[in-house]
Formats: sequence, C-alpha cells, structure tokens
Amino acid sequence: MIVEKLKRKIKCDASGCDNQADYTIVNKKYIFSGNLYLCSSCLNNLYGEIGKFVKPKNIKPIYKKGVKNEI
Ligand SMILES: [Zn+2]
Repeated sequence: MIVEKLKRKIKCDASGCDNQADYTIVNKKYIFSGNLYLCSSCLNNLYGEIGKFVKPKNIKPIYKKGVKNEI
C-alpha cells in the first residue's frame, strides 16, 4: 500500500467532504481494491486517527541516562 501525490483533479472520497483530492492511497492487494482519494485535510485527520494505534518504528531515544552508545 502506498500513498502518492495526485496530479489529476478528483473529488475527495471522504463522505461529506467536497474538497478536491490531493493524495491517493494505492492498493492492489489488501483490504480494499482500487484507489482511495483524499484531500490533505482528510489525510491529516486519518493520520491523526492512525497515530492512536500505530507508533512509528525505529525511533530511539537520543539520550538515555546511564547507557553508553552501542558500537
Ligand atoms: Zn476530504
């Protein structure tokens, strides 16, 4: 599943939103078929909601007291 910046003018897929879509979520295998078109406002809302459940990976604390850097 990938997110791409949209070049064509297509209406946002979120119900009740009349904005032009700025991004598309391209999916060919999972969950739903076809593309989902979202404006930047709806994409930001979705990102906020996803953040409740999914934490970014590979983020280590910059400094941890008492722990030396791993080599
Ligand atoms: Zn929208």
